[in-house]
Amino acid sequence: MRKDRDGGSRIVVVGAGIVGACCAAYLRREGHAVTLLEAEEPAAGASRGNAGALSPGSCIPLSMPGVVRDVPRWLADPDGPLVVRASYLLQALPWLARFVAAGRPGRIEAIADALHALHGAVYDSYQPILQASGAGNLIRQTGCIVLYCKPGSLESAMAGWQMRKDRGIPFEVLDQKGVHDLVPALAPGFACGVYQPQHGYVVDPQALVVKLVDHFKAGGGDLVIGRAARIDRQGERIAVALEDGRSLDAERIVVAAGAWSKPLLAGLGLSIPLETQRGYHLQLPDPGIELPLPVSFSESKFYATPMAGGLRLAGTVEFARASAPPDFRRARQLGALAGTWLPGLNLAGAQEWMGRRPCTPDSLPLIGAVPKDPRILLAFGHGHNGMTSAPTTGRVIADLIAGRSPFIDLTPFRPDRF
Ligand SMILES: Cc1cc2nc3c(=O)[nH]c(=O)nc-3n(C[C@H](O)[C@H](O)[C@H](O)COP(=O)(O)OP(=O)(O)OC[C@H]3O[C@@H](n4cnc5c(N)ncnc54)[C@H](O)[C@@H]3O)c2cc1C
Repeated sequence: MRKDRDGGSRIVVVGAGIVGACCAAYLRREGHAVTLLEAEEPAAGASRGNAGALSPGSCIPLSMPGVVRDVPRWLADPDGPLVVRASYLLQALPWLARFVAAGRPGRIEAIADALHALHGAVYDSYQPILQASGAGNLIRQTGCIVLYCKPGSLESAMAGWQMRKDRGIPFEVLDQKGVHDLVPALAPGFACGVYQPQHGYVVDPQALVVKLVDHFKAGGGDLVIGRAARIDRQGERIAVALEDGRSLDAERIVVAAGAWSKPLLAGLGLSIPLETQRGYHLQLPDPGIELPLPVSFSESKFYATPMAGGLRLAGTVEFARASAPPDFRRARQLGALAGTWLPGLNLAGAQEWMGRRPCTPDSLPLIGAVPKDPRILLAFGHGHNGMTSAPTTGRVIADLIAGRSPFIDLTPFRPDRF
């Protein structure tokens, strides 16, 4: 491993999803000798097939007051937007209990402030690393529409919109005509929509990660393909031990392995309630309609995003055992749901995908040094917003390693908060 600048460290970043790629990019810019360790290939996980939405105004925790009322409904509807597979229910219960507890009124305002700080800087934080990687064209700032199909749905969501308003996040409620003027492809009959002008999207999330990693390599970073088995700590020495017997010595280790991060942290005295929320996509290579901007179908909990490779319908939530096979009916369902509101939608040649969101019960990622061994830093748990929160995560991880004060308060993201 190279050291290009006096004072630079030997750093291993585990996981080449969007979070690991952003951490590696920021750390390499500062002259550290960085190895990015990836089990399969860059963007093998959730960062490949997500909806690509960049949401600086996304500050609403997933768990809100009253969520306890929703849990029985999720359990009862195997085809609903949120599903817990029966075989997994007992295992998921402790996490669900913490999730419900995080939605108490006294807690959600602080969570919203933390999410606002993390997400609000998305474009500023992407700018230097995308510009350097030649990937600036992969991001579009178009705004987005949150569509409410049923009467009364917007009213039920007003608490969340008020929380955005309280934080100065701009949005505009549009009637049918206003929405239709922006998205002519929509069928009439929906209730209304909300336009969020600051929002944008990544036209190809996988390509974004690959470009960042390619630039990282071209600038002297190492990409090693291999699966981390554990972190070894013996006296002064720390190292990432790989399943194939190799070992990568380091001065600092950044764990950014998304939904797979937790097993690497055994022995560090942390309680990490990390759960996987699976999501699906159906990508339509020749959709037969055009969307000028992403549309979020609020009741059905998925996005329709006009990507480079076609229209991507992506979202929904499923709790299941790690080894359970994907249930691609859930991906196909997205085609049927979208077709109701987008007449003429062509499903021919549709591609299905499932990905695992790394989720904490309080909707906040873990970002920061492990108190028991500050040489190890955590950067995972970005849940439903990792494409949005990754670049700021990379930026603040670089701040921490340089001994600078991060530009946002990291207290809410403390690894030892659970
Ligand atoms: C359907 C769906 C839609 C979504 N839509 C959006 C959206 O619109 N906007 C948004 O901001 N976010 C969205 N997300 C969330 C976003 O995709 C995730 O938060 C983000 O991709 C997480 O990135 P990550 O780098 O932490 O994890 P991942 O992308 O999962 O990357 C982890 C990487 O670590 C590697 N790895 C795992 N274990 C090891 C190991 N032991 N050793 C070495 N490498 C390892 C994996 O192979 C993988 O490449 C969506 C997610 C889904 C599933």
